[in-house]
Amino acid sequence: MPGDWKDANPRKRSCAWAILRNRAPEKCSRAAGRKRLPGYWVSLWKDRSSKGHEMERSIVVVAEHFQGEITPITYELAAFARQLQQLLAAPVKILILGDPVREVAQDLAEKTGREVVGIQAPGLRSYTCEAYKKLLGDFLPKISPSYVCVPHTSTGWDYAPALAVRLGAACITAVEGVVRLNEGIAFTRSFFNGKITAVMTSKVQTTVLTLQPGKIRPLEPGSARPGPITIHSVESPSQLSRFIERKQRREQSSSLTEAEVIVSAGKGLRKKENVSLVSRLADLFSRSAVGGSRSACDLGWIEHRQQVGTTGVTVTPKLYVACGISGAFQHLVGMSGSGFIVAINTDPNAPIFNVADVCIVDDLTAFIPAFIEAYERRLMAS
Ligand SMILES: Cc1cc2nc3c(=O)[nH]c(=O)nc-3n(C[C@H](O)[C@H](O)[C@H](O)COP(=O)(O)OP(=O)(O)OC[C@H]3O[C@@H](n4cnc5c(N)ncnc54)[C@H](O)[C@@H]3O)c2cc1C
Repeated sequence: MPGDWKDANPRKRSCAWAILRNRAPEKCSRAAGRKRLPGYWVSLWKDRSSKGHEMERSIVVVAEHFQGEITPITYELAAFARQLQQLLAAPVKILILGDPVREVAQDLAEKTGREVVGIQAPGLRSYTCEAYKKLLGDFLPKISPSYVCVPHTSTGWDYAPALAVRLGAACITAVEGVVRLNEGIAFTRSFFNGKITAVMTSKVQTTVLTLQPGKIRPLEPGSARPGPITIHSVESPSQLSRFIERKQRREQSSSLTEAEVIVSAGKGLRKKENVSLVSRLADLFSRSAVGGSRSACDLGWIEHRQQVGTTGVTVTPKLYVACGISGAFQHLVGMSGSGFIVAINTDPNAPIFNVADVCIVDDLTAFIPAFIEAYERRLMAS
């Protein structure tokens, strides 16, 4: 309920939450989108029970890696852990599981400057939920972490809740940021396509957090002295499931990843014929490409390989133009690193406007042809 708070699970009393409706952007810019929130939260925050216990204990990051390479979200987790450390004055450890693990652990210690603990077990070459739950569940109680930071990716969201149950911990998923209130530490996350922001805290000693990719600027690799490394060799956990194969998608999305300008279509196009408007707008720029939201791709208006977002491609063009896209966080994750963002939407409260540099509140079927016509007229005159 907006502006209200209560225990998420009154029986277990492990998490408290407050959900606050975002006010409409007073000024449309990325900065305004971020700044307007904290005062609003503070005035409504009521939970006092988490104060204190987080001061004595550690913060753990569980690294993600694939085929010997550390994935980018791990550096975002390291940066997030640093933010937590600044608030809690608690030591940070990075855990990495694998077989073999020494080389990736070494790489991580060099790139982050953090203490790295490697857990090596036969068969850990590939991820399984059971193995991560068992090995982390055995190891973590020995160091009693306050926070276990896990990526909100297809692996992280798979094992995080199971690990939390195993540890008797709270679990807060899809975290986007951390705030320090008078009453303690709290975490923010979005609901309903970013229209509502929840501020959540934990009432128990250990909390598993999954961090939403693209929300925290990653730690610059290699900026510190290498941290110490410890490797624990353990027995392979017995498992009911077994990894067979990981299949790579065949399609290439090079046109999107190489483009300097991307014009993306959303469900707000209303019909397939309007895709030509988006293509004509993209054609005004050299090195441009057309992208789309998942809805536009699912409707068959845009090819799936051109989908931008968590289950599509992550892009960082110089200019991103979002046409009739609401700005669900799954879409924002894929494009919010763009240099300059223009959004066209009929709804002045569309979440896409929270990340846009220029917000055009208009019907795209009226705005885009008018813009192209004005541009071509100016070109002829010059
Ligand atoms: C596991 C999972 C993964 C997902 N992965 C992705 C992903 O990778 N990428 C992705 O994009 N989504 C993804 N989604 C879907 C996502 O949650 C949203 O549903 C989707 O992004 C919405 O697409 P949209 O903005 O085009 O449509 P809508 O949310 O329907 O928004 C349409 C917008 O168009 C505006 N509009 C309507 N008419 C006009 C007009 N005439 N002119 C201008 N504006 C107009 C409306 O105001 C509205 O804001 C995922 C969802 C899940 C559950």
